[in-house]
Amino acid sequence: MNPAPRFLSVGGGLAGLTAAVRAQELGLAAVVIEAGSGPHYPCNSRIAGGILHVSYQDVRLPAEQLRAGMRDQDVADSPQAEAVAETAHRAFDWLRRHGVKMANFPQLKRGAWVMAPPRPMVTGLQPAANWRGRGPDLTLQTLRARLIALGGQFIEGARARELIQSEGRCIGVVASRAQEALRLEAFATLLADGGFAANPACFREFIGPNPAEVVQRNAGSNQGDALTMARAIGAGLRGTDSFYGHVLSRDALHNPALWPYPQVDALGAAGVIVGGDGRRLFDEGLGGIHAANQLARLDHPASAQVIIDAAIWNGPGRVGLVAPNPMLPYHGGTLHQAGDLKTLAALAGLPAPELVETVRQYNAALSAGTLAALTPPRSQRKTPALPIQTPPFMAIPVCSGITNTMGGIHIDGHGRVLSADGGVVPGLYAAGAATGGLEGGPTVGYVGGLIKAVVFGMRAAEDAAHRVVSHHPEENRHAIPQS
Ligand SMILES: Cc1cc2nc3c(=O)[nH]c(=O)nc-3n(C[C@H](O)[C@H](O)[C@H](O)COP(=O)(O)OP(=O)(O)OC[C@H]3O[C@@H](n4cnc5c(N)ncnc54)[C@H](O)[C@@H]3O)c2cc1C
Repeated sequence: MNPAPRFLSVGGGLAGLTAAVRAQELGLAAVVIEAGSGPHYPCNSRIAGGILHVSYQDVRLPAEQLRAGMRDQDVADSPQAEAVAETAHRAFDWLRRHGVKMANFPQLKRGAWVMAPPRPMVTGLQPAANWRGRGPDLTLQTLRARLIALGGQFIEGARARELIQSEGRCIGVVASRAQEALRLEAFATLLADGGFAANPACFREFIGPNPAEVVQRNAGSNQGDALTMARAIGAGLRGTDSFYGHVLSRDALHNPALWPYPQVDALGAAGVIVGGDGRRLFDEGLGGIHAANQLARLDHPASAQVIIDAAIWNGPGRVGLVAPNPMLPYHGGTLHQAGDLKTLAALAGLPAPELVETVRQYNAALSAGTLAALTPPRSQRKTPALPIQTPPFMAIPVCSGITNTMGGIHIDGHGRVLSADGGVVPGLYAAGAATGGLEGGPTVGYVGGLIKAVVFGMRAAEDAAHRVVSHHPEENRHAIPQS
């Protein structure tokens, strides 16, 4: 009997491991190659909050509700969005069947499930107890153990460098491990390196000119290798200008206690965000993910400040899992305060006449109901605008924090990589934060990185298994179970 065809995952995050376990259980010989080493190799899946949601909704909702919820978060209809709507509930059940523990967390607005035991939502990644042994870390350990138990292989310390092609088909990768070059051939190759967030050259090419002024709110393991390799063989790219991230204290650029939390999103969305000239920069009402993207595109992303008053600080400022009030100043984040706007401007290094005029126009438009006529227009799409009128007035120097890229290698609803001319690249799949075509767009529609990783990891493996069946029908008579 011939050996089972190989399914190769590049990357041992949630997307790569999900795909490998699913492929192995469907009769393929799954191998993961992972650039990192050790039981806790860094990746975004490991340090994530672990909240599994579809555009902030419970993943078990009927597909029609998930579709509507994604549209509501500005996610355009697409084959990928359809795949999420149709697969999210099944993906959740599949994870649990393979031993992943989920806790019901109805108090979280962002969907009802979190990987268990929940990671404490605290500032900083240190001490390691903040994430080690917690739900997301345990999920990866569980899936890795499951892969091995089913007969699959996990090769650590191996970084994929180049895709191998033969007669127009991708047939594997060349990877480096220590001084050694590994040539790994496969029936199907899945790229799941977590995207290009931590690659400054890619950041400059696709997002903005100044990555040094943007906080890497991530594990640092996402170097864009998959995008580079896929592009080299003609893969198409989608949505590379958008990322998932948050507005952070500017001090997070040098103070690791100020990321991944607290986020300053809610304060910016309730008040105004101004540049170094004291004028508003964009529509704050589109929320923190949009704001983080807008800031990252500036020549000087760390030049902006959030302007609020005491009512906002004591209202939206106290809301959230890690509320900026009091966590931001407690951990050393700068908070300028003054009894009037002119004094605040002097403290914050902003031109007083412009700041006073910006706040005057904003307050006037808010009370007249003419926010949309401001330049730039102000919506209340994601959160209500609040007046800035109760002293003390406050200025928080902010910057953008990039968590993971939303765009990247263009895939279809089965995770198959599409070439720049729209055709499929045979033998090549991609999943998770390495991919594009689902999220992003002008108002930065967001689905959720974890569910995206699981859904497309599963679907890629299932598609590859179906193709094995059709290529070698006499050796693969088994029907493919749904999960
Ligand atoms: C602080 C934080 C909080 C988050 N919270 C949430 C949340 O609550 N809910 C949610 O939905 N999303 C959340 N996310 C986003 C989510 O974690 C990611 O979108 C998701 O984990 C991406 O999974 P992935 O497998 O694509 O990438 P990753 O988990 O980043 O894994 C990629 C892996 O590929 C490896 N790799 C890279 N290059 C190579 C190469 N050339 N060869 C071999 N291996 C390679 C890396 O070492 C890494 O292990 C959060 C992210 C962060 C950082």
